[in-house]
Amino acid sequence: MKTSDTLISTLREVPAEAVIASHQLMLRAGFIRKLGNGLYTYLPIGLRALRKVEQIIREEMDAIGALEFKPTVVVPGELWRESGRWETMGDAMLRITNRAGQELVVSPTAEEAFTALIRDELSSYRQLPIVAYQINTKYRDEIRPRYGVMRGREFMMKDAYSFSADQQSLDEIYGRFAAAYRRIFKRCGLTVIPVRADTGAMGGTGSEEFMVESEIGDNTLILCPSCGYAANDEKASCAPDTPLAADGGAQKPTDKPYEPMDTPDVKTIEELSSFLQTSPQSFIKTLIYKVYNSELDLTNAPGCAALTRVTETGGAAPYYPESFFAVCIRGDLDVNETKLAAALKASAVELASDYDVERITTAPVGFAGPVSLANAPVLADRTVFDMHDAVTGGLAKDVHFVHVEPGRDFTPFITADVRTVRAGDRCPNCGASFYSRKGNELGHIFKLGYKYTKAMHVYYLDENGKQQIPIMGCYGIGVDRSLASIIEEHHDENGIIWPMSVAPYQVCIVPVKYEGAMKETACSLYTALQNSHVEVLLDDRAERPGVKFKDMDLLGIPIRITVGEKHLPNVEIKLRSQKEPQLVPAEQAVQTVLALIAEESARYDAV
Ligand code: ATP
Ligand code: MG
Repeated sequence: MKTSDTLISTLREVPAEAVIASHQLMLRAGFIRKLGNGLYTYLPIGLRALRKVEQIIREEMDAIGALEFKPTVVVPGELWRESGRWETMGDAMLRITNRAGQELVVSPTAEEAFTALIRDELSSYRQLPIVAYQINTKYRDEIRPRYGVMRGREFMMKDAYSFSADQQSLDEIYGRFAAAYRRIFKRCGLTVIPVRADTGAMGGTGSEEFMVESEIGDNTLILCPSCGYAANDEKASCAPDTPLAADGGAQKPTDKPYEPMDTPDVKTIEELSSFLQTSPQSFIKTLIYKVYNSELDLTNAPGCAALTRVTETGGAAPYYPESFFAVCIRGDLDVNETKLAAALKASAVELASDYDVERITTAPVGFAGPVSLANAPVLADRTVFDMHDAVTGGLAKDVHFVHVEPGRDFTPFITADVRTVRAGDRCPNCGASFYSRKGNELGHIFKLGYKYTKAMHVYYLDENGKQQIPIMGCYGIGVDRSLASIIEEHHDENGIIWPMSVAPYQVCIVPVKYEGAMKETACSLYTALQNSHVEVLLDDRAERPGVKFKDMDLLGIPIRITVGEKHLPNVEIKLRSQKEPQLVPAEQAVQTVLALIAEESARYDAV
């Protein structure tokens, strides 16, 4: 490609709206342009890089036997009603109504579309397993799209779905994806940290997220320096630690009955600690949560008699659109809302409003506690059961209960691990002290189970002619986010430094002036490289050499051939990643370039 035949739209200034390197560089290099909030157009050179990433993903999917499909992006809303997600997906899902009044969804993900497809195609166990994928447009109405294509509204995703006869087959396919993902990221030049992940209300049994370390990452990764344990903090657990009493020793059980104590104007844990001269570890902190779409059975739960329970016709589990829980945890710890939502089989949780807190605790905000609480079920974090002689809110203004023994003085409706694990907490496997990092999710694989195949009535006949339901796995990668992350990992102050495997062009030729012998040499190298199937960009613009060098550095083309009068018949060959060029006779340039391409490509070969 000659630069005059494509569109080079580089910017000298850093666009004000871009704060991270990849966003700045993608705009400056003219790879993307913003069309609207969270909506980006790829320009031709940017699109070449995106297609490279896509192609690597496609090759690795094909290599593990996944079959590529091309479903529509717009999907009938009724499929989402069948799965039960019409109600639970929330505002991130873009819904539209066509002229016939039909409800449609612009795919935020495609479990429903693929499950419906397989339902129609599947009849016999002989067809299983089926592993299907697409690389296609997704739309999510992100509240705050940011960092360019890192979190856009419209983006490309590779999403795959597997259908198996049994768990063993699912495990085997999951393993293939786990390996394929490692190869994909290696080939893209991405350093990823695979971590255990939350499976949320999905009820999955295995899940791994592929993270890149990033200061602007939305995820907190909990990492063990010793045994390699790595988990998203939405999932991380830690070894139990002994709660301490005020004297620094272990807490001891008490025989004293619990009793109210006046605590005038004392509300926060800090105020209470100094008032009672004890440690925050002696308090049972109680938070009232509003819980959405819980699939727990709350028939016999305190305060839940009047709740509405919805049973969908589709076969999805019955759920409570809204319920309230009192969540108890040791005073020095925090509740992780993702772990909490998973424990409650809920789609989301949020702290209840003051109004609801006062209604449920029959007291002003600040005096919630689990003892004799009648208006909401109690969820106790595991840490609570290691506590003794504890203090809790007394369900009345300015009152706390002291000498509270968990188990004796209250019985939770449910006990679960909902604490936020932090750096410094101990690894459950080896006891070493965790450290943490911010991370961005590039891919996610998980064993989904029967959620969709059950709800949407997918059946096949087994060897004995008996009707069975297949088990699913699902596997996603964000293509644009991966591309942006490659730039995050491979750039310097002058621009992008593409790994050879994903570079929009492998080589650029920059004649110092596009005239005379320089032009002649540049053009013959251009033709020769094209004949050798090298992806080459020839800068034939009438710009000053400095401008052309700057642009090619910004674009990040891995190999540059400079053709200058003073060196002819030699040309300069330079790697974008290195400072010094080598001088090579023009007639050997193709050979040198081919060797460099092979060498550079090999760095990103997956083993
Ligand atoms: P996040 O937590 O970042 O919102 P997610 O868990 O909702 O992501 P998945 O549903 O697992 O994402 O989607 C699979 C992949 O799609 C993600 O790993 C990510 O790479 C990509 N992705 C998700 N949302 C976006 C977005 N708004 N912009 C770009 N890529 C996205
Ligand atoms: Mg995810």
